[in-house]
This record gives sequence, structure tokens and C-alpha cells, in this order.
Amino acid sequence: MQNPAAAGEAGAINVYVCEETGAKTWTREVDGGVTPFMIRCRAAGCDCGGRAGATSAMYPREIPDNVIGRWEWYRPDSRVEALTHATKAIDDVLAVIDRKVGAAERQSKILATVDHWAKGGLYMRQSAEPWTPGGGQITKVPKVPGKRAKS
Ligand SMILES: [Zn+2]
Repeated sequence: MQNPAAAGEAGAINVYVCEETGAKTWTREVDGGVTPFMIRCRAAGCDCGGRAGATSAMYPREIPDNVIGRWEWYRPDSRVEALTHATKAIDDVLAVIDRKVGAAERQSKILATVDHWAKGGLYMRQSAEPWTPGGGQITKVPKVPGKRAKS
């Protein structure tokens, strides 16, 4: 189907491609706004183990019907919610990259994230329920053979 909205508008669907394996992390915007060019890979069962970067495919016009999304972009309602999310997100970044990179690169990754938020960029979270491009919420996700179902 056609992407339900344009980049920066609520409803827009985007995909981030893992730099190591090409696995896809589908996201959608709950609120309209700016999303980053790169995220940490969150593709379910990806062989990178969530350690690789994933780059934006810049909001493809056509979205396959069989996409199952598990992530979304939103604008926190309050300063407290934003700070709580930020703390968790930075802990998450540190947990993954701590042993892999030096202090300078670690700091630059955190600063890039904070800079995105400081400029009013959207926050990323796991969706309460997986979703489809048609907008439906689905409660049962088919398992991919040989892959871990965890995202
Ligand atoms: Zn990956």
C-alpha cells in the first residue's frame, strides 16, 4: 500500500536498514515531527544482536502489506516523561555499546541522541501492540522459522 503519510506527519511509515545484515526495523510516526537518520538496529532476531546501526530508507512511497511494525515515534506529553524516556534510552545505548567502543565514540553517540531531542526531535518507543501498514493493531505475530521472536 501507499505510505499513509509524508515524512514528518503522523501516520508516516519508515524503515531503517541494519548496516550489518540488511534486516529491517519498521517504524511509524504517532505524532508528526523529525526522526533521526540513524538508529540502533531493532529488527526482530537480527544477527547483529542489536549492536549495529540502522539507516533510514527515507520514508518509502510503497509499503509492503505484510509489514509488521513494532516501533513508533512520539512526542512526550511532559518534561517528566521526556526525561524518564531519555534516561532509559541512554542506559539502553550504553548497555549495547559499552564494551564495543571507546569513550569518545560512546560520548558522541549519546550527544547525537540528546541533540536530536534538544532540536525537538521525536522519541522512539516499542509499540504497545505490533501494527500493520493498514493501521490495524495485531495481537498475534507469526513466528519467523529459525529466528528469535524477541524484538
Ligand atoms: Zn541488525
